[in-house]
Amino acid sequence: MALKTPQEYIESLKDGRVVYCNGERVPDVTTHPILKICRNWMAMDYVLNQDPRYQDLLTEKDQDGERVSFALMPQRSRDDLLRLREMVKLWARVCFGKPSGAKFVAKDGLNAVTVVSPRIDKKYGTNYAENVEAYRRHLQKNDLSFAMGLTDVKGDRSLRPSQQKQHQDFYVRIVEERKDGVIVRGAKTHISQAPLCNEILIAPCRAMREDDKAYALAFGVPVNAKGLTLISAEPEVSEGVNLFDHPIAGSIFINDATVIFDDVFIPNERLFLKGEWEFAGEVAYMFANFHRLSAETYKAMELELFTGAAALMADYNGIEKAPHVRDKLTWLAMYTEAVETLGRAAVEHCSSEKDSDLVYPNPLIANICKFYFADNWHQATKYIQDIAGGIVATCPSSKDYFNPETQAMLEKYLGGKAGVPTEDRLRMVKLVRDLTSSYEDVLTIHAEGSLEAQKLSILQLADFDRYKAAAKRAARVENKQGHPIFDELPAFPPSL
Ligand SMILES: Cc1cc2nc3c(=O)[nH]c(=O)nc-3n(C[C@H](O)[C@H](O)[C@H](O)COP(=O)(O)OP(=O)(O)OC[C@H]3O[C@@H](n4cnc5c(N)ncnc54)[C@H](O)[C@@H]3O)c2cc1C
Repeated sequence: MALKTPQEYIESLKDGRVVYCNGERVPDVTTHPILKICRNWMAMDYVLNQDPRYQDLLTEKDQDGERVSFALMPQRSRDDLLRLREMVKLWARVCFGKPSGAKFVAKDGLNAVTVVSPRIDKKYGTNYAENVEAYRRHLQKNDLSFAMGLTDVKGDRSLRPSQQKQHQDFYVRIVEERKDGVIVRGAKTHISQAPLCNEILIAPCRAMREDDKAYALAFGVPVNAKGLTLISAEPEVSEGVNLFDHPIAGSIFINDATVIFDDVFIPNERLFLKGEWEFAGEVAYMFANFHRLSAETYKAMELELFTGAAALMADYNGIEKAPHVRDKLTWLAMYTEAVETLGRAAVEHCSSEKDSDLVYPNPLIANICKFYFADNWHQATKYIQDIAGGIVATCPSSKDYFNPETQAMLEKYLGGKAGVPTEDRLRMVKLVRDLTSSYEDVLTIHAEGSLEAQKLSILQLADFDRYKAAAKRAARVENKQGHPIFDELPAFPPSL
């Protein structure tokens, strides 16, 4: 079948899945008034793949000559990564900074298990690499949307999975082994767009020890599997939301869900890690490596929109020439372009594993980029909120703006600079409110891994030998280990 139409994608979700949202079981996720927002955002993946203008970028012929999503192909060269960046940019620009989630996150998990599974096979004689390849083909041939289930609910964060005190199910684990597969129990949380996906790829979120063997688990599971329950995050908007008041939240609902496994059967052929605890951390680490490209590319596109909104609010309020505003706009432009440049640099200097032909962004640069954008996000929202004014919090609803009884008053009094239609100013105000919501704040800090995780990687990957060699040379401290760059440099100052 290969590429699905948007309608075929929507039809594929009517499969008896167990989803709850706002206190109610959802009989059909495709017609629910709020989940429909996620449905349409997800469907953009299928809309774009069908568009002849984008087919060369977004799709690729598989070994049978059939067109499949390029997102489901393993990336094997720097050029593949650059192409993937262009793909994520297109997805993000089309969807107001947030790439359609159909394959956006889990493709990186698929690559992670592609890299790690042959290592496990080599050590234990398992056949996970074959399983992963068959799963990839299944996803490609049926053009399936899939979510990434990495983050466990975790309980007490200071304890490993098997050390948890209240119960043993804070991390997804095997509770029974059968000849033809395993039974799993536990819960993953924050799993973006899972209720509107066909499949979920499950993998461990941390390194494990031997005691945690039962938790060292990676597998693919259909969303309608028996025993699986998905509880959607509370939506930010309610039924009847309009795109004037919520241009972003009304068109993008990422629908992060808590996914509960109540003794779900996973057949052997869908298992990619089962008890080989020493590889759990490698899967999580490789996911982060691949996922940095996605996260950093879309974030730069979101910042382009964000900085544009700040500049327009300055224009609309007549403060575009004020020195403090120019200063803030300069900072926002630097922030936007630095994220774009760092993200691209990570791809230009891409890395690979010794035993794999897949490539991923340079992890040092990529972690710096991720940390930089997340750490500065609140500074950026502070600036845009300052420029836009208090109206971001207090703006009347579009229902009042378009109410004939109040429209003339609001039109007159909520105007900005002469020549700027009041409606344009209010639309921009609403955009700023959506862009600076608490959801966006938390997403930027935590999604794709918390700040400390990046710091840890940066500290491990940074070339401190080089930094120290430079400092020792300047201080004239003998460098006993020597350094290939600094030992070769001419003496300075010269003895002339
Ligand atoms: C909008 C959104 C979408 C997401 N989408 C997905 C998704 O699609 N799939 C997926 O798998 N995950 C997803 N995530 C999860 C994301 O990766 C996690 O939120 C992130 O890794 C942090 O985990 P946590 O939320 O459990 O927070 P915690 O781990 O509880 O972190 C809270 C704080 O505790 C600290 N901390 C935690 N453990 C320790 C420790 N042992 N020692 C010291 N400090 C510690 C952290 O550094 C942080 O400061 C998403 C998150 C968000 C917000």
